[in-house]
Amino acid sequence: MLIDNHNRTINYLRLAVTDRCNLRCNYCMPSEGINFAENNNLFTIDELCRLSDILVSQGIDKIRITGGEPFVRKDLMVLLRYLADLEGLKDISVTTNATLVGPYINELKELGIKNINVSLDAIDRATFERITRRDQYDTVHNNLIRLISEGFNVRINFIALDGQNTQDILPILDLAKHYNVSVRYLEEMPFNGGSKSFQTIAWDYKKILEHIKEAHPNYYKLDSPKTSTSINYKIPGYKGTFGVIPSFSRTFCGSCNRLRISATGDVITCLYAKASVNLREIMRGPNSEENIKLEVLDAIGKRSKTGFEAQEKYKGVFSNSMTSIGG
Ligand code: SAM
Ligand code: SF4
Repeated sequence: MLIDNHNRTINYLRLAVTDRCNLRCNYCMPSEGINFAENNNLFTIDELCRLSDILVSQGIDKIRITGGEPFVRKDLMVLLRYLADLEGLKDISVTTNATLVGPYINELKELGIKNINVSLDAIDRATFERITRRDQYDTVHNNLIRLISEGFNVRINFIALDGQNTQDILPILDLAKHYNVSVRYLEEMPFNGGSKSFQTIAWDYKKILEHIKEAHPNYYKLDSPKTSTSINYKIPGYKGTFGVIPSFSRTFCGSCNRLRISATGDVITCLYAKASVNLREIMRGPNSEENIKLEVLDAIGKRSKTGFEAQEKYKGVFSNSMTSIGG
């Protein structure tokens, strides 16, 4: 079992399998992209399988595959097939922009991978294209509806971006009206590859909730698991639900059960902290299994208690991009 220095059990790994992406969301990276890692600086699929194996043997029982865009890796399904068979792993989920998932939907279903988060920050086509800087609206929308219709447990991640998409906060809720889907509103975080910096946000979770309340005064709160980062609600008569994730306000740090491994192998114990160690060369060196276990234990033993404490300690982490951290 992995237990941190604040007595929190760490059982959830967010594994970024690449830092590359076919979109250029303006809150995530600059229009020209970031300095993407060379292939040799990413784990091979074989290494990702071994890494998952080692961490599951240590107590990780939930892995979320993220990126960059996970499906830009042509060999992603090799990893997912491996994880689907990995004893001790109870939950595999994927976060995707839904541009490339189409050909894999049937196999994901066969493998029993049910939890898919789709990032969609606009229901209006022009707004989508302005934010993502690409014209993939139809593909994303079609794949989203297919995933929902095929019975996946789909959660839509919508970042409330001041001056960009807040007019879509209410219209996108229509998806939860008609489908059994959860629309989750995230606060913007300053991990955008240096595109812009900010100390405060206009649209925090309270403002998002007030805005929704004006249109839907009868929504009510749902019970959520203790380690959930989202606070969840239901509007009477709606098939789905909605939630807010205070990712900038950081109200959930006390129960954080997450460990992140970036696309290039950095171990990140808090989004607002610097990497503790890089596992790539350790993985490629002698006694890799033992050494990885030791390094991960060491990192977990030195976690900041909250994102605010980490931010105070590690100034300057904000030039990172989510495309290498994995969100
Ligand atoms: N490409 C995939 C996608 O977009 O779903 C997976 C990787 S993406 C980095 C993972 C999550 O991070 C997405 O839900 C995305 O919206 C979120 N994200 C990226 N940049 C962010 C930022 N600056 N603030 C808050 N969330 C961010
Ligand atoms: Fe790509 Fe996801 Fe970042 Fe958008 S949020 S640029 S889809 S990695």
